Amino acid sequence: MSTTSEDTLDFEEAHGTTKSGVWSFYIKSTTDEGKVVSECKYCQKVYIAGSSHGASNMRRHLRSQCPSRNSPEVLEFFVKSTSGGAVRSVGCNQVEYREALALSIIQHEYPFSYVEHEGTRKVHSVLNSDVKHISRNTVKADILNVFHIEKRRLLESLRSLPGKVSLTSDFWTLITTDGYMCITAHFIDNDWNLHKKILNFVYVEAPHTGPAISKEFGDLMSGWGIEDKICALTLDNAIVNTTFSDTYETLLNLKDFC
Ligand SMILES: [Zn+2]
Repeated sequence: MSTTSEDTLDFEEAHGTTKSGVWSFYIKSTTDEGKVVSECKYCQKVYIAGSSHGASNMRRHLRSQCPSRNSPEVLEFFVKSTSGGAVRSVGCNQVEYREALALSIIQHEYPFSYVEHEGTRKVHSVLNSDVKHISRNTVKADILNVFHIEKRRLLESLRSLPGKVSLTSDFWTLITTDGYMCITAHFIDNDWNLHKKILNFVYVEAPHTGPAISKEFGDLMSGWGIEDKICALTLDNAIVNTTFSDTYETLLNLKDFC
């Protein structure tokens, strides 16, 4: 074994005074001159005890100099190297973190305050000590951003659709008697896949007369720009829907409403 390296290190670990896992990548030995040295298992780079830099030289060699610095074992070590029982990491992709948080809240319908819960933040800190916690207002803005991106994608796919769109409109009434209109689109794409998308779920001010609903519906559809692609409009048998469909049918001069 060669001991020609100029790099030296503090050998406190050789005496068991530190717990750095970096030693699992080195072989400890003693030279003929009685010096305690460490040799990299991968490239045989040798460090001599005596520096005050602790294990930092060995860590730096593994991270940026060793030919095996990109091996799975080394990468995993730097991701999960431990200190005092807490997991540390080499960094946090904050953009990816915020996007994943927003999507999880959408998927599971968590409240925005979820991101401010003490237990939630504790879990995220354990997983990555570099994480920057966010507020409910930040995650709300992130979710709205996701909404606008997805809406733009749907808009583009609807406008480039070669076929027609079938719409369904239904009213939901809250216990407070507030009325909401839900408009769902069914369409088939270029690959013959059937899609079902909610285009709008909006509060509609009373009174919910046929002409009023027709106007609201027309305004929403013009926002999507798909009036020329509507082939059918399916409604339930509420009396106001007869006026609604008649009014809208006349407006668009369509004949195929059901
Ligand atoms: Zn090495």
